[in-house]
Amino acid sequence: MALPALPTHLTLELVTPDHAVAHEQVDEIQLPGVKGYFGVLPGHTPLLAVLGVGQLWYRRGPDKTFVAIHTGLAEVLPDRVTVLCRSAERADEIDVARAEAAKQRAEAELKKPQMKPEDFERVRIALMRSLTRLQVASRTRMRG
Ligand code: ATP
Repeated sequence: MALPALPTHLTLELVTPDHAVAHEQVDEIQLPGVKGYFGVLPGHTPLLAVLGVGQLWYRRGPDKTFVAIHTGLAEVLPDRVTVLCRSAERADEIDVARAEAAKQRAEAELKKPQMKPEDFERVRIALMRSLTRLQVASRTRMRG
């Protein structure tokens, strides 16, 4: 009996509570899982993954698009990846001055003595968001 053909593309659906960031046919996706970055190609085994703060990229042919992600969930199926996250911005949507100001605020707070553990964690994640946004903003669509 012939095996079913593997899908050749992935449909990526990337949404936040307030906007649809991407709905595209892509060849490859890399996602920021809480336990580390992982890649998805067409035909991937189904899985559910919790996402942390970091960069997501997707590739269509030679073109990669980078997105700054703030925590969410990804459902991976052989021909489809659905990502729901708290916030997501493509490089061209990022306000660099705002991210730089957020970074400086977080760094100043981290220098305060005797922070409560819950405050430290909140500020650490805010710093990661700002650094991720600055990193993504520094990329334009690039090849390879
Ligand atoms: P800030 O302190 O500047 O508000 P934040 O990390 O606390 O940053 P979030 O709570 O993660 O902000 O995001 C709130 C909303 O603002 C989201 O819709 C997010 O996409 C948007 N946002 C936050 N920072 C930026 C930025 N630098 N450029 C564009 N959009 C941003």
